Parts: sequence; structure tokens; C-alpha cells
Amino acid sequence: SLEPAIVQFEVQAIGHIESPYKQKFAIPRQPRLVPEATAKLIFCDAFNREEFVRGIEEFTHLWLLFRFHETADKGYSALVRPPRLGGNERKGVFATRATFRPNGIGMSAVKLEGVEYKNGQLALLLSGIDLLDGTPIVDIKPYLPYSDALEGASAGFADTRPETEMTVSFSEQAARFIDQQSQYPELKGFISNVLKQDPRPAYKKKKQQTQSYGMNLYEFNIRWQVEDEHNHVIEVTREKQ
Ligand code: SAM
Repeated sequence: SLEPAIVQFEVQAIGHIESPYKQKFAIPRQPRLVPEATAKLIFCDAFNREEFVRGIEEFTHLWLLFRFHETADKGYSALVRPPRLGGNERKGVFATRATFRPNGIGMSAVKLEGVEYKNGQLALLLSGIDLLDGTPIVDIKPYLPYSDALEGASAGFADTRPETEMTVSFSEQAARFIDQQSQYPELKGFISNVLKQDPRPAYKKKKQQTQSYGMNLYEFNIRWQVEDEHNHVIEVTREKQ
């Protein structure tokens, strides 16, 4: 059997994510489903040097390995219920991308938009992320199309991109408020694309009655109502400080 030091070892965060997703609810279930989701990867002091990322701009996409820090202390179980299967069928945790897993490690392929070194702080500018604000990053590797994009691969119950048949509309207040946020020119498209993914938990989706929900993106609170396959954004406000 393996030495104890090999069975258990420490990892160190190399940085963390600054993301518009301020809570778990409504984060897309995989990266790149919502391209407007931009984020910054801020390096820790020990890695806050340009040498660590020299040459990284040559890659369009990166793999991020990270810690599901918000749920890591909740443990794991052998069987999980993938939302894809309506939350009824169970699969082995290692046959899914579930967040509740031994070691709580996640991986996402994200787009690299640029490298920033401003006021002595090194950061990567990213888009298409599926990560909560504050997520600790444990490693970064370039995405290698010749090796990572596998021709002929199939993915069973998760073989296709999830269907996004939901439509989205905005109340007058919401549309006006969004238009005024000139610092976020993509805000309307961002909210639409998040809602099209239908953030509701799988078990709620079968219910037919109208229900309202709330989420936080950036410093905004967004309230919407779901009726059948339609999301209507009722109100967008600035979160109370
Ligand atoms: N692409 C990653 C993977 O395959 O390992 C993550 C997939 S996981 C199904 C995506 C979900 O993780 C998001 O919808 C969000 O609810 C959750 N999530 C994102 N960042 C998190 C964090 N720091 N802690 C806990 N959950 C997180």
C-alpha cells in the first residue's frame, strides 16, 4: 500500500477568482455555456510574478483546477443525482462532474482574454467561467487542442449541450435599469443567457405553477418569474450595501 505521505498531501492555492457570480444558485453547470461570464484570476503573493505566466498568451484556452470551497466541508457520497437526469436517477460520483466529491476539486476549460499586471498585481482575464466569486485556484494548465479535444469521444447521459429552450423577457424597469449600467455593456445578454440555462433545481422544473426567484450578479439583485418555459425578469436593483 502507499506511504501515508502519498495517500494524503497538501495543496496550496496559487490564486483566487473574482467572478460576477456571488452565490452558487444560477451559476451555469459547465464553463462556456454563458460566454459573457468574465472573471479575473488574481495570483497569491507567492506567485505574483510575470515569470509564472510567461508565454501563456499564446494559448486561447486554459484548464483551471480549483477547489469547490463553498461546499467542500459538506462531504461527498458514492452516488449523486445529475441534474441532467431530472434529479431522479443516481450515478457514481466519479461518473459525474458533481461538486460534492472526495477532495472537492473541480476543473474548467475557460477562455483566456488577456494578462494584466496592474499596480503590482498579476491577473489573468478570463471568460466563459462557471465559478463562484472567491474560488481558490490550485493549478492552471494550457488547453491543448491536439490532445485534449478528443475525436470520437462520447459522453453517455451528458453527450450533448443541455437544451436551452427557455425564453427571457424584461420588465420596463429591468430594461431601463440595465441600460443605465454603462460599465456593464453586456449585462442584458449575460442575464438572458444565465436564465436560458434554467438555474432551477431539477426537481422544481416539473412544477407548472408560476414561481419567482432571485439571484445576484455583480452588485445587482435580479428577480424573475418562471412560467412554463419562460423567464420574465421583474426587477433589477443594486444590492443594498
Ligand atoms: N466545470 C467544473 C467541473 O466539471 O469540475 C464544475 C462543474 S460543477 C457541476 C458547476 C457548478 O459548481 C456551478 O453550477 C456552481 O453551482 C458550482 N460551483 C462553482 N464554484 C464553486 C465553488 N467555489 N464552491 C462550490 N460550488 C461551486
